[in-house]
Amino acid sequence: MARKVGACVLSLSSGRPPFLSQQLLQELEEEKRHDSSGDGDASTNASPAALSFAADVGTLLPGKEALKEHSAAHVESDMRSFFGLSASLFVVAQIRSGLLAPPDTSVAKGAGDVVLLSSAMERIAMPLEEYLDLASNVMHADLTECPYEAVGPGYSRKHADRALKRARQWTEKALSWWNQEDNGARSGQQLLLPVVGLDENAQQRCLEDVRKLAKEAGIASLGGAESSVGISLANLRYLDADTQITRIRKARAQAGPDVMLYAVMGTASLPQLVAALAVGANAVETSLPYMLTKLNTALSFAVEAEGPGGPLTVNLLDTRLCEDKAPISAGCPCWACERHTRGYMQHLLSAKELLGQMLLYLHNASMLIRLLEHVRALPSEEDRLAFARAWAPGLSSSLQQSETPPQPQV
Ligand SMILES: [Zn+2]
Repeated sequence: MARKVGACVLSLSSGRPPFLSQQLLQELEEEKRHDSSGDGDASTNASPAALSFAADVGTLLPGKEALKEHSAAHVESDMRSFFGLSASLFVVAQIRSGLLAPPDTSVAKGAGDVVLLSSAMERIAMPLEEYLDLASNVMHADLTECPYEAVGPGYSRKHADRALKRARQWTEKALSWWNQEDNGARSGQQLLLPVVGLDENAQQRCLEDVRKLAKEAGIASLGGAESSVGISLANLRYLDADTQITRIRKARAQAGPDVMLYAVMGTASLPQLVAALAVGANAVETSLPYMLTKLNTALSFAVEAEGPGGPLTVNLLDTRLCEDKAPISAGCPCWACERHTRGYMQHLLSAKELLGQMLLYLHNASMLIRLLEHVRALPSEEDRLAFARAWAPGLSSSLQQSETPPQPQV
């Protein structure tokens, strides 16, 4: 059975955080299973897939080479577990170098080549098909992002044009690879087609291109339960918060209600993530729990409240917390909050104990996942917008009720 992507995809694009251990992953998974077997609404929360990770395909390479030395058979079958990504975890395969710089012409041989950055920061060029094979058949990713070039506001017109052209070429090639008999389209895997255009017109044109290419590849409609492709909004991170939200909303209106829309949000703030889901993203990819943990900061709020009603975070290095017997966040069912107090966390973090960061990451990820799953599960767009307006008051202009319901284009 195909796994369903969680509302919150935790990005491991800066490599796996040292404190994200195998045991921690298991705790998060267990927690999810626990949640879904409770007497809550199990039908909307039935899968442990809410725990989703975006992992960089480049990090596979050194491990693959190392394992090859010992057992070639082992490599192909066990790469997921080698990286601690167990069979029940939802994994998104992504390309990191694609987000950083234009393809390195000193490494790549031609326009068909993708340049990966390995976890040893080594640049490796390979044909697009090999990249897709790594992501789909070796990593067994549930979602594979078709590579693309980053386009930011400071990029030249020439670069932006090349990125658009390349996205088109790669999308076309990726679709044809995906449709081949033994590749991704089977066993419920999905391919994410990148929309790279940065300004509104370019985004619109890109989305139109993607639909056309999918149609030409024999994928009748991008939407629907059986569709093996979705859309990834790739360069959102370069836009200001209000523009990001407006862009997601426009993409949703243009793509129609059933298309899987994946928003790469990077280090976006919590209100931005809430707003992105409210206006129509199915999943947001973020490194927020990682960033917060590095800053010794914990998310603290009541998940289902109508608004945060105060600050969203607490700095656990604050010495006033050292006698505090309360959990990190009241009512949080995570493993860390069930067992430890703010005072103990303050002690661990100020002593720079790795355990402190492990517990904090677990807590932050758990809080964020629960909040974002809650937003996604709200019954109507109206409810989601109302919720987001309370949680993201700074984004009120992009969160107004739409005057006319979005009309999907046919
Ligand atoms: Zn907690």
